[in-house]
Parts: sequence; structure tokens; C-alpha cells
Amino acid sequence: MRVVQIPLLRDNYGYLIVCEETGEAAVVDPSEAEPVLRSVEREKVALKAILNTHHHRDHTGGNSGILERLALEVYGHKNDQGRIPGLTHPVDERDEIVVGRLRGRVLFIPGHTKGHVAYLFDDNLFCGDTLFTAGCGRLFEGTAEQMHDSLKKLMALPGNTMVYCGHEYTEKNLEFALTVEPNNPAVAKRLDTARSLRAKRDSTVPSTMAEELETNPFLRWHSQEIQSNLRQQFPALPLDPISVFAQVRQLKDKF
Ligand code: ZN
Ligand code: FE
Repeated sequence: MRVVQIPLLRDNYGYLIVCEETGEAAVVDPSEAEPVLRSVEREKVALKAILNTHHHRDHTGGNSGILERLALEVYGHKNDQGRIPGLTHPVDERDEIVVGRLRGRVLFIPGHTKGHVAYLFDDNLFCGDTLFTAGCGRLFEGTAEQMHDSLKKLMALPGNTMVYCGHEYTEKNLEFALTVEPNNPAVAKRLDTARSLRAKRDSTVPSTMAEELETNPFLRWHSQEIQSNLRQQFPALPLDPISVFAQVRQLKDKF
């Protein structure tokens, strides 16, 4: 299996998932059609499917333009019927996705939207706007509890799982992470690395789940440092995982 990252719009990423045995491919979250079609040509693959993580326009805006040129299967969560252009295969937790000889699995991870899914192919996780590198998506349609549960589901994946998210937000996310956990040396180190990559306009994505567990403040509700920093600002805050997560998310919204 091969993954091709396609920079789209201002800071979105689409991905080709390629079965190297058959040359067949699926595209995750085509924000726009033309760059995806060019990438399909350049990589000499046969595009068979669109895998949408959720209905937002910056993840589905290319569906119609691609479907005008190619007849494809379109996957998305069943809650997104009517919101994902061209949806042919409404899916849910544990459904299987086939790309050539590759087998992927659907993870239902609501919170950012009520129909958000991730696609897991071996150790490659395509998680849209739920888990970002060093961050997480905003709570547009779901509750903090739903998002916490979705992130917890992703945290249970092996540490070597590659995290392919929907946006290039790492640098900004790590600047925020430092405000809630300034003494975590892994955060400062990761910010240095991200800055030098971005200075060359290189991608900071993918990361690994192990890196996220160490540095992503939205997965670190157990961190003593984060808890005591929150307590200083919000003395009445309960320190259970959902309350800590919700408070960190609110701080990020204002950052
Ligand atoms: Zn989104
Ligand atoms: Fe997005």
C-alpha cells in the first residue's frame, strides 16, 4: 500500500490510497477536483472510490467535479446522507472498505460533526478533522463527551499508527499546546521540528499515534501539568477526563 498526500485549498490535505498490486486507488477528502485528477494521472493509478471523512465543503468540494469525469463509489457516514455529494455507500462503525486488494475499516468518530468517520488501512489512519497533528477539530455538531470518546477510540490504536489528518495545523497547534503544558519537553521539541519543516514549506503530516499521545494536549487529560494549569485559571473545574478535555478545547477556541 502506498499513500500519496495531495495539498489542497489553503491548508487541506487529500490522500490517494493506492493498492500497488492492482494499481487501484481511493481518494480521501477531495476538497477540489483538478489537483486530485492531476495526481491520479501523475501516479498512473485507477481511481475507484472517494472516501469522505465528513460533509464539510473543504472535504467534499471536489466530489462533483471528479464524478463528472469518473464513475466512482462514494463513501461517507450514513448520518451524512443528503450532505455528501454523490454518496453511494453510507457506512457505519466497523464496515469494510475494499481498494484493490487492500482492506480498510470504518471508525465512527462523531464530535466535529455528527457523521464523522475515520478510515483505517493497516497502520494508516485517515481521520479528517477529528484528530489533528497536535490538535483536534472544533465541536461544531457534537458534545465534548462525544469528541472525548472518539479521541479515546483513536488513542487505543497502536503507537506506530500513522496519523493522516485533514489539515496542516501542526505549528499553530503546538504553540497552543505550549500554553497549557509549557514544561513538556516533547512539545517544545516537536514545535522546533514543525517550524523548520514549515520554513521549507514541507508537510508536518503524517505523525504517529505515539507522538500524539506524548504531545497532543487534547489527548493528555491525565497530565498533571495541564490539570494544575487549568485549576489555577478555573478553580471549580472538575478534573475528570471529559471536563479537562472540554476546558482545553474551549481555551483553544479562543487562542
Ligand atoms: Zn471539517
Ligand atoms: Fe476541514
